[in-house]
Amino acid sequence: MGGVSEGLGFSTRAIHAGERHDPATGAHNTPIYQTATFAFDSVEQKLAVQSGEHDGYVYTRMGNPTTSAIECKLADLEGAQSAVVAASGMAVIVAVFHAFAHPGSHIVVSNDIYESTQTFLHEKAPVFGIDVSAVDITDLDAIQQAIRPETVLIYTEFLANPSNRVSDIPSLGRIARDNDALLVVDNTFTSPYLFRPLEHGAHLSLHSASKYISGHGDALAGAIAGPKTLIDRVRHEVEILGSPISPFNSWLLLRGVKTLELRMERHCRNALELATFLDRQPEVEVVLYAGLESHPGHDIVKELTGGRYGGVLSFRMHGKTAQSNRFADALRLCAHAVHLGDVSTLVWPHREDLVRVSVGCENITDVIADFEQALEASSRG
Ligand SMILES: *Cc1c(COP(=O)(O)O)cnc(C)c1O
Repeated sequence: MGGVSEGLGFSTRAIHAGERHDPATGAHNTPIYQTATFAFDSVEQKLAVQSGEHDGYVYTRMGNPTTSAIECKLADLEGAQSAVVAASGMAVIVAVFHAFAHPGSHIVVSNDIYESTQTFLHEKAPVFGIDVSAVDITDLDAIQQAIRPETVLIYTEFLANPSNRVSDIPSLGRIARDNDALLVVDNTFTSPYLFRPLEHGAHLSLHSASKYISGHGDALAGAIAGPKTLIDRVRHEVEILGSPISPFNSWLLLRGVKTLELRMERHCRNALELATFLDRQPEVEVVLYAGLESHPGHDIVKELTGGRYGGVLSFRMHGKTAQSNRFADALRLCAHAVHLGDVSTLVWPHREDLVRVSVGCENITDVIADFEQALEASSRG
């Protein structure tokens, strides 16, 4: 579906791509086709759909019109030929490893990625006979050395959760191509508005669509975009692993993603302001946000995103975990909750004494005022 809206702006495509008036009623918004199955008028019609001769649907685990609409829209936004969505980000990640790694395969992964992805690889890779090398993804020599003839994937997060460690996607793409491996990028933190990995040498771009794509903290979903031949293999895994998205959640994504540009602009602006504020506070030891010039990945992100750094930052307090727990307990406006990419600011004391902040779309002065009083309370001990 890539190229259908070539030349149009990002928000125009986020609003219109993949949508059409409902052929049965003229409904302007894509309906929620909340159905498990689809009926046929004749055996002939069924056979035509099953053979792919006619477009159509058979059973919602294999495809659904509401889900097709969001898949077309996300493919368009990522500049990809095709996309598939699934029940959660983890459902997509698991499907990717099933699709491309087999007993005897070797994969190179960043040693700084989302915790559940690490847990999946740690627990399941040995079961499936897949060998994993976890490397510092900013050390290109180490990656080159980790590559073997049986390496099938390089897997990383462009901005890592929660550290904001930055992957140099163009260089990783070259290494992958030189070695006949696929570069798979978890693009959750940046969203296709800020960064489109396929334009910079990645083979596949995936998301926890539960985050910025949904944008309102009301749905779990995952998405992946890339060339049709690769996406068809992931789609097959989603089907047989039994992790399709529900039509209702597809509809929540359709609604949420229409305002992605508006929200991301606000998230980025708010996060930069909060990061700059925190960087000046005596209680704070370090702020990890690529928008700060002190961040080691600042220049790469600046070049690849045109100077926008996303809505998530992490910071460590001098008083470590004890102080960050006091800080979290003292918050009044901002929620102490896991998750990110929501319109409301969410604060989560994380591993390695880091406090992760998903900066929302509130008026930032209100968020900063809440942080100010909670920092003060955290120092009182
Ligand atoms: C949340 C998250 C995931 C997992 O997505 P779910 O939708 O929670 O399954 C994967 N990668 C990153 C970077 C995430 O933040």
